[in-house]
Amino acid sequence: MSDLLQVKNLVQEFKNKQSFIDSLKVRDGKIVREQKVVHAVNDISFTIAEGEAFSLVGESGCGKSTAARTIIRLLTPTSGEIIYRGKDIAPLKDTELLPYRKKIQMIFQDPYSSLDPRQKVKDILMEPILFHKLAPNRKAAETRCYELMERVGLRPEQADRYPHQFSGGQRQRIGIARALAVEPEFIIADEPVSALDVSIQAQILNLMMDLKDEFHFSYLFISHDLSVVKHISDRLGVMYLGALVECGSKQDLFERMSHPYTKMLLSAVPTVGEKPLVESMEMVGEIPSPIDLPSGCFFHGRCPYAMPICSQQRPELKQIEPGHYVACHLCPGKEK
Ligand code: SF4
Repeated sequence: MSDLLQVKNLVQEFKNKQSFIDSLKVRDGKIVREQKVVHAVNDISFTIAEGEAFSLVGESGCGKSTAARTIIRLLTPTSGEIIYRGKDIAPLKDTELLPYRKKIQMIFQDPYSSLDPRQKVKDILMEPILFHKLAPNRKAAETRCYELMERVGLRPEQADRYPHQFSGGQRQRIGIARALAVEPEFIIADEPVSALDVSIQAQILNLMMDLKDEFHFSYLFISHDLSVVKHISDRLGVMYLGALVECGSKQDLFERMSHPYTKMLLSAVPTVGEKPLVESMEMVGEIPSPIDLPSGCFFHGRCPYAMPICSQQRPELKQIEPGHYVACHLCPGKEK
């Protein structure tokens, strides 16, 4: 499989919003203004192949959603490359991004806030079809809209309803249909089922995987819940405080997980009638502030295996077996 997307050394930083007074500090007897920086994404690199489902996982606040919004270029990266089909889209201006807006679609966590409450479903679905000239006229766009509704499990006679007249699961189906309307190659799904009842989550995930097989697009899933992405991912990356700490195939992550943080996340996955994936590890402490990044390994303040070197030297993401990368001083890398 060839790479559809290559993310290289992506960094996303924001200026922390502070009042003028709060930003004043005394340094060497002088009053100086210091604007703090939020280090949301810290030098991450990964690839997604054609037709692949890749997931970024981690606790909330670990930077995975910011990474997704940067990759789809809702945000301009501070530095790094986002190479889509061989072209770096990181530096492109809005007008230059237009062709990519059609190819790369996003499904949001909260389907209600991502749908215009004043638009009927028919208009929500027809608008991108007409904007991108994917139908020769309104009649053809309307026909396509009904086809899409049926494909995601909605009835065409519901097309004249407004988003508030649907349940949460149905609204997510509308969001999926809107993403499909422009015939995308790549879909970024940001916590697509976390706002839904558990009974509906599996239906939506199954629908998304059926659509991937049918339309042959690639996915980037964003999730805080490893159990949600376990069955739908080909490969996964685990993020902690804006950095990738482990990356590999589903088997690497669930059967040969190596980073202490991955083990901690996996030990929190509930298993009913199955052997736990790892020995129970308590989730200790909170993620440190992305404004004041810890020295060395970002995880050293919470890691039960921390050694003196861990607070002094940041471990690099190294390959420990083919395709399996870990950033931990306990896991020496192998020569490629
Ligand atoms: Fe723990 Fe040290 Fe590995 Fe970081 S580098 S995960 S602190 S053992």
